[in-house]
Amino acid sequence: MSPKQKIEDLREELRQHNYYYYVLDKPVISDYEFDIKLKELQELEAKYPEYFDPNSPTQRVGGEVTKSFETVAHEHRMYSLDNSYSKEDLQDWETRIRKLVDGDIQYTCELKYDGASINLTYEKGNLVSAVTRGDGFQGDDITTNVKTIRSVPLQLKGDYPDKFNIRGEIVLPLAGFHKLNEERIEIGEEPYRNPRNTASGSLKLQDSSEVAKRPLDCLLYSLIGSNLPIQTQFEGLQKARDWGFKVPNEAKLVNSIDEVLEYINFWDTKRKELPYEIDGVVVKVNSFYQQEELGFTAKAPRWAMAYKFKAEQVSTKLNSISYQVGRTGAITPVANLEPVLLAGTIVKRASLHNADQIEKLDVRIGDEVFVEKGGEIIPKIIAVDLSKRPDHSQPTKYITHCPECETELVRTEGEAQHYCPNYNGCKPQVIGRIQHYISRKAMDIEGLGGETVALLVNEGLINNYSDLYELTKEQVIPLERMAEKSADNLIKGIELSKQIPFERVLYGLGIRYVGETVAKKLAKHYKSIDALANATEEDLINVDEIGVKIAESVAEFFNSEENNLIIERLRSFGVQLEISAEKLANQTEKLKGLTFVVSGVFESISRNELKKLIEDNGGKVSSSISSKTSFIVAGDKMGPSKKEKAEKLNVEIINENEFLQKIK
Ligand code: AMP
Ligand code: ZN
Repeated sequence: MSPKQKIEDLREELRQHNYYYYVLDKPVISDYEFDIKLKELQELEAKYPEYFDPNSPTQRVGGEVTKSFETVAHEHRMYSLDNSYSKEDLQDWETRIRKLVDGDIQYTCELKYDGASINLTYEKGNLVSAVTRGDGFQGDDITTNVKTIRSVPLQLKGDYPDKFNIRGEIVLPLAGFHKLNEERIEIGEEPYRNPRNTASGSLKLQDSSEVAKRPLDCLLYSLIGSNLPIQTQFEGLQKARDWGFKVPNEAKLVNSIDEVLEYINFWDTKRKELPYEIDGVVVKVNSFYQQEELGFTAKAPRWAMAYKFKAEQVSTKLNSISYQVGRTGAITPVANLEPVLLAGTIVKRASLHNADQIEKLDVRIGDEVFVEKGGEIIPKIIAVDLSKRPDHSQPTKYITHCPECETELVRTEGEAQHYCPNYNGCKPQVIGRIQHYISRKAMDIEGLGGETVALLVNEGLINNYSDLYELTKEQVIPLERMAEKSADNLIKGIELSKQIPFERVLYGLGIRYVGETVAKKLAKHYKSIDALANATEEDLINVDEIGVKIAESVAEFFNSEENNLIIERLRSFGVQLEISAEKLANQTEKLKGLTFVVSGVFESISRNELKKLIEDNGGKVSSSISSKTSFIVAGDKMGPSKKEKAEKLNVEIINENEFLQKIK
């Protein structure tokens, strides 16, 4: 089989599996098998760049960075929808439209997905653009980001028209939302408030490989174009499904407003079982002929109506406010409520977010408050029932001192949260930090769990993570639920953690904003904790992808004498505080400040090896040629368009030998 044929077969195969997995939710091969095939395709594509295809399944991982998204006009305006909130509203709508069209009216009922709307354009079965709604007339071109969403087909199947648009909603399913938040909490960041904003925020990220990591989904609901092979909305949904789009099966064709109401009532309860959030139902006149007769108002189609669910709400009494201290010292006020049934669960607590929120709502202890469960995981207080406010009630005074250690709280300008600055003496911070240090992605200490850490701190056996290395078996055996065997394992696990590589140690230190990826970057750049500790804020900002916030936080960490002492202790116990010699031996700074684009096939080295060499020697690899490109390393069969661009921008082209010469 020719390489070209092999590449095409693999693409087709992977496309099918993508479809089974992400559109139908029914994978037929294991993730492992999928990865093997994907890797095979990646290798072939690297070897034969002349068969490059922007819509190949390998392009899903992203990589392109967009500084600012281009504004483009919509070919067909993206209208808004009129809203209704009651049976009467819907009946009025029916009366209005009955006057404008003849004959029976059928309605398509669909769920109203709560996310960010998107217009996708396909030509000859290929995705060519994805544009946000914007103001309805023009939106942002976010094609590179949307391509990373696995359920968006890059290439269609079946009898699709030559050119058309399809509209839908990009959502962040709840499971993915919760997972993202767990990761945020782990690095000491505020969790995201709701899936909808997180979805639209994700779509505006500059780095598409970051978007690829967000578990976004795209649910389609409307075909737009001229001469489409369909006469009705419902048929359109079916066709879109056939062509490979993810169109939820919940849509239903009905014959009357009564049936519409049945559908609404059903989903008002059932929506809790959906994997994503909806905020209502959209009712559409099914026949395109009738739709045309009805036309549009200045803002919305006359042939469609959104029915918005009421967010579930109850009122209950606010008994007290408590304040929680997180691992980073951030204070979160929590409302303790008189238990009440809301959306099927008993609610006892609600989030109050921060001091501003309390002031804005003017919530006071003893107030009757309205609690709502919308997109948020924790219900929130949306208002106070002032008519029931007790006489002599006092405005809530936000705490001034830490509830755990009584240190005076601080609040930095521009930050919503108060912090307890008693970094090394505040129990929840101390415990949280050690728990982070031993966690799986950091030191991964087997035999030691979060509860044991709390116990060790409370017993006064440890105060910071460096103390772990001085623990003895005799000290831990008397602890609750600690048998000889588990004590042994604990000590052994701690000992083994001395082998954990520097980048993970760095992550484990729990410096605010230094998550896994940032830790890797810093470790690679500075190579040792000493070099990192000596870096100024300015130095740090100059490191690729390190922003002011991170730089400040790192500098502050190393400014603390206590932190430096802890690091010295870690060093004395043999914890890895620099990149290992073996890793280091292959690294230089010879290409520092240079950006390379690699194109074509090479003789003595694979493309991936070449890229690794560039990075190991301090250079940067970029996928597209721009004025910032220093050199193009060109092999055989360099793409003609790349060549043209290089010449236009006057970028020097070198061959592999010339490159190898540079790093010799
Ligand atoms: P609104 O933002 O409240 O004006 O509602 C209009 C928006 O609802 C549209 O722009 C779509 O993004 C969104 N929407 C969600 N589901 C659907 C659906 N099934 N049909 C049409 N629009 C929908
Ligand atoms: Zn404190």
